[in-house]
Amino acid sequence: MPYSHDQVLAALKHVKYPGSGNDIVSLGMVDEININNNQVELILKPQKANDPFLSSIKKACVNAIHTYVSPDINMEGKISVRKNDPVKKVETKKVATEAPAIFSGVKNIVAVASGKGGVGKSTISTNLAISLASKGYKVGLIDADVYGPSIPKMFDVEDERPKVVKINDKDMIIPVTKYGVKMLSIGFFVNPDDALIWRGPMATSALKQLMLQGDWGELDYLLIDLPPGTSDIHLTLVQEVPVTGAIIVSTPQDVALADAIKGIGMFTDEKINVPILGLVENMAWFTPEELPENKYYIFGKDGCKNLADKLNIPFLGHIPIVQSIREGGDNGRPSAIDAESVTGAAFMDLGQKVLEQVAFRNKNKEATKIVEITNTNGCSAN
Ligand code: ADP
Repeated sequence: MPYSHDQVLAALKHVKYPGSGNDIVSLGMVDEININNNQVELILKPQKANDPFLSSIKKACVNAIHTYVSPDINMEGKISVRKNDPVKKVETKKVATEAPAIFSGVKNIVAVASGKGGVGKSTISTNLAISLASKGYKVGLIDADVYGPSIPKMFDVEDERPKVVKINDKDMIIPVTKYGVKMLSIGFFVNPDDALIWRGPMATSALKQLMLQGDWGELDYLLIDLPPGTSDIHLTLVQEVPVTGAIIVSTPQDVALADAIKGIGMFTDEKINVPILGLVENMAWFTPEELPENKYYIFGKDGCKNLADKLNIPFLGHIPIVQSIREGGDNGRPSAIDAESVTGAAFMDLGQKVLEQVAFRNKNKEATKIVEITNTNGCSAN
């Protein structure tokens, strides 16, 4: 037998249950390991019924086995979950924790999320940040999308390496500033070839560092461009800082909307309780330059608008598919830097709607509390 049970178990010890500090082996989540030549089959026991982190844990298991045992192991469809038998209860509860002192200068933290990748979340984050900055607000942007940190490219600062300086005896990372936006990206610290290993615990600690060791100073808005879907990065965010609200980006296509609903469900879960500031419909239609009156609803019409109405959450607007939006992202000159252009104006409107929704939220809802995850079974962190 080429691989041993112990090798696989040791690899799985690198997989942490999001937010708990414990690995899945110590938590008793690894129920069975079957090794057959080049195949490893795992049976996991969930922590609780409908455990929202199972899919990210499964991916982390595959990454860990490929990284620490062998990349040649076939794991395709080889991880199953024992149903109806959660092992131990992990409970989330709200505590009235103050935001870390370093965040005292940051007035609003806004998460930008999407259910699916490729729907334009980073494009929206970038242009929204620039639009808010051009309206005179102090804006920071953290690119936490470990699956494709694209914001440095959108700002044309890919080759920048942020400086680290000692402030009050603490190492602080100086954000890169462009178009009035202070920005830090996981992409500045990750070699794209290492991205696979970076996902998981290393990525969550990198996000913490960008938030808590970034020298952000006074900010009106700190936007966080999250990875698509729901991941341990999301959980780290809500555990580390009080998130004012979340913006969800989707295309109007049914498959994207189905995933957007899951994302909304995660933020509005009573244990997380981050208000949804609104839904942005990106790639709403396409208008060819030569036929400016025509709109082609490539991904369907008004899917996000209808969903927002149905879920009773704010709708923040339509952004059409425009070649210059794609080009602006690729060449580091995002559309929002020209507020007079049609696309720039669309992002200015989006910025305005976000300002209104944040003001409304702050007036009508109590401040978000940091989520604390506790293990009620007395399991100690290792
Ligand atoms: P995500 O962050 O959701 O993965 P990106 O923002 O990276 O998505 O966008 C994916 C691709 O689609 C990029 O090439 C981007 O330039 C392009 N894109 C996003 N929104 C638009 C739009 N409204 N019009 C044209 N291209 C867009």
